[in-house]
Amino acid sequence: MTGRPSTDVRPITQPQTCPPKTQHTPPEERRRAGKAPYRHIIGIGDSNLPYPTPPSVISYSLFLLLSGLLFTLAERLWPRQPQPIARKGYALDIVYIFNAEVVGALVSIWLGRMYGTHFLQWREPLGLTALARQPEWLQLAALLLVKDFLQWNIHNLLHRVPALWEFHKTHHSTEVMDWLSNWRFHWFEIVFYQTILYLPANLLGMSPTVTFGCAVISTTIGHFAHANLRWRVGPLKYIINSPEMHLWHHVHPDAGPQNRNFAISLALWDWLFHTAYAPAQAPKRLGIIDAKTT
Ligand SMILES: [Zn+2]
Ligand SMILES: [Zn+2]
Repeated sequence: MTGRPSTDVRPITQPQTCPPKTQHTPPEERRRAGKAPYRHIIGIGDSNLPYPTPPSVISYSLFLLLSGLLFTLAERLWPRQPQPIARKGYALDIVYIFNAEVVGALVSIWLGRMYGTHFLQWREPLGLTALARQPEWLQLAALLLVKDFLQWNIHNLLHRVPALWEFHKTHHSTEVMDWLSNWRFHWFEIVFYQTILYLPANLLGMSPTVTFGCAVISTTIGHFAHANLRWRVGPLKYIINSPEMHLWHHVHPDAGPQNRNFAISLALWDWLFHTAYAPAQAPKRLGIIDAKTT
């Protein structure tokens, strides 16, 4: 057994230093990285880059393609009424794809990464530090619930305030509905929604994966609610938005009551606040008086 080299022996008077600690990754980050491979598929969860990464743009494009194919196929198999894929206004609605909620969510993620450090002091008093320690499915449920209730209220305002209706009537100008109608919104509405709904969540430290997931779920339910599908959802109509209720939100003033069914993702707000309207039959006519699509 050899002795320790004399150079290792330090005088007793020399300040003792602690051995350097090994690089420590917080348990929460280790858990997320190890048990959530979908984060890599989504492509935005683990990146520290201050902008949506190419994988996130690819993920979004794949989501657009896949959801479009699935809803187009479902509408061919279970149509509520016969109508061609290239129905009236089809080309216009394809242009509106670039005006989507998920795009706004990605921009909010980018802004959150750029400027979120200025809002750190607000996370604790608002309870977001505690929320960030919860599993991502719980964060997602919380964000979806809060965002949807805010959006339900905004949707009310868009119908009841004449100046805001000028923007929202673009969405109601559609006269033949299918899943693609979910894209037709005035660009101001997208800016308005995202600024109020997604940007605070990102500035206050909400996980980008959660934000992105919330936007994808909300958009998918929106596609379903607008789809030309004869599916009825039974008792679930009290929980989620569906074609049988959202068609009546789009009813033409000559064909049914106005200002009903403001639901975006969750129909429960309409049942709670007595704005639900769900007769058994579909409306005879959709659209608005003097439709404009700009
Ligand atoms: Zn509306
Ligand atoms: Zn709609």
